[in-house]
Amino acid sequence: PGEQSVPDPSKKTLVILGTGWGSVALLKNLNTENYNVVVVSPRNYFLFTPLLPSCTTGLIEHRSIMEPVRAILRHKKGAANYYEAEATHVDTERKVITVVDNSEIKGPATPNEIPYDMLVVGVGAENATFGIPGVREHSCFLKEIGDAQRIRKKIMDCVETAALRGQSEEEMNRLMHMVVVGGGPTGVEFAGELQDFFEEDIKKLVPGISPRFKVTLIEALPNVLPSFSKQLIDYTENTLREEKIDIMTKTMVKNVTENTVEAEISKPDGTKERVQIPYGLLVWATGNAVRPIVKDMMSRIPAQKDSRRGLAVNEYLVVQGARDVWAVGDCAVAGYAPTAQVASQEGSFLARLFNNMAKTESLEGRIHDLSSKMNLKAGNAADDAREIELLEKQLRRIKDVKPFRYSHQGSLAYIGSEKAVADVSWWNGNLATGGSLTYLFWRSAYLSMCFSTRNRVLVILDWLKSKAFGRDISRE
Ligand code: FAD
Ligand code: NAD
Repeated sequence: PGEQSVPDPSKKTLVILGTGWGSVALLKNLNTENYNVVVVSPRNYFLFTPLLPSCTTGLIEHRSIMEPVRAILRHKKGAANYYEAEATHVDTERKVITVVDNSEIKGPATPNEIPYDMLVVGVGAENATFGIPGVREHSCFLKEIGDAQRIRKKIMDCVETAALRGQSEEEMNRLMHMVVVGGGPTGVEFAGELQDFFEEDIKKLVPGISPRFKVTLIEALPNVLPSFSKQLIDYTENTLREEKIDIMTKTMVKNVTENTVEAEISKPDGTKERVQIPYGLLVWATGNAVRPIVKDMMSRIPAQKDSRRGLAVNEYLVVQGARDVWAVGDCAVAGYAPTAQVASQEGSFLARLFNNMAKTESLEGRIHDLSSKMNLKAGNAADDAREIELLEKQLRRIKDVKPFRYSHQGSLAYIGSEKAVADVSWWNGNLATGGSLTYLFWRSAYLSMCFSTRNRVLVILDWLKSKAFGRDISRE
């Protein structure tokens, strides 16, 4: 009941959790005719995260970087079911998952159990707060579409409130102070986009308050973008300073209240200073933490007891200590950084592996049938023997699946004022580059990576629209 396509009892049921980079790369490359595919995710769309920072200012409209999962499934040869629900528990002994519908409208069919023969966990990660008080209550994260929409609204709320008659100087300065915590790529890209928004639009449309607008980027380590080369770090920091973004490195945020951030600055002489920083908007981008469902799995599987940052997997992405369970992307610990690039390569690898497993099973079945026929002395034994030999040859070839190996294509980040930085592999060497040409490369690279032609066209139209008419500053 409620099933959209009836499962075929002769096929294995493959349950895929999540509709992010890892799971969608798997779906895209999987031959869905071989399995009863069931996708479970609270988000009924794929999100192209690299352009999410651009949605916070309205440079790109959020629907331009979303692709409905049902549109993805429609193009598959074999039918697949999608359920908008969140998996809350995996019973690896009984091979069932428990799902809950956490959307606004829910029927009596929640919670619910879904059995699996094979399970892929691609649930991503949640935002790290390190238990710092006040973060969840007072700051905005930047991970999902809702986060970007919240930030977009809040920027304009701060601006309009600061522009309201009768505000004190102190209050205007606070409201116009936009603080970003975390100098990783998310924090840097957002700070760049925000400063662009101010320079290109807010300054013109709300000139009265513009001298007070300030973006501060706070990073606990000695520099921003720690995963990039020294040359690009210097280039990024210099560019951000030229853009008048205030960078506070060696500064660790310790506490957050409704209107202030309390941070500890490590000084060159080894002493520490506590400072209070008033803010209007606070964006928290300090990286990833493990999701509850993954934590729950890790605590129940004895082989996972030493793993801290997610599900430990082997070189075939099999979750250590669990039968018929694989993990991809930010929730898997395979020795790579938690990036879209890694997640999508892992998803594509699993698709190849599963396509192969299905082919192997069908060849083995055919060999078994032919052998039985030969044993019963039915049919032409010589022809059957020849076919078996051929099938076995094919089988040896496809059975030999090499373990997963990540191939790094490079790192790219937008840093504001139409400049980007890139650490890319180039003719067997590495190219570290920054500037306006890199920005064009960044734009074309991200455009080519967009999920669909529809997304690509919408993103181009948004870029053109913003260039011609400016960003839309209406607060929805
Ligand atoms: P996600 O893409 O996060 O997808 C997880 C999926 O699981 C979602 O559909 C979610 O709804 C679903 N889910 C969550 N909980 C459950 C549950 N309990 N049950 C079922 N489903 C669940 N990486 C790059 O390589 N290049 C970039 O330029 C880049 N830019 C980024 C910009 C931003 C602003 C951010 C936040 C990240 C960026 N990243 C980038 C990192 C990249 O987005 C992640 O590494 C990538 O999304 C990980 O893919 P994933 O499939 O593991 O998880
Ligand atoms: P991150 O983990 O890369 O960076 C978080 C930063 O926050 C760290 O530098 C850390 O030192 C700092 N930090 C932590 N606690 C702090 C505190 N209390 N006070 C001040 N600073 C603190 O996180 P991210 O930028 O969200 O990126 C997450 C993942 O997504 C990474 O793997 C990244 O490479 C990837 N990503 C890539 C791109 C890109 O390639 N353009 C863009 C966004 C994200």
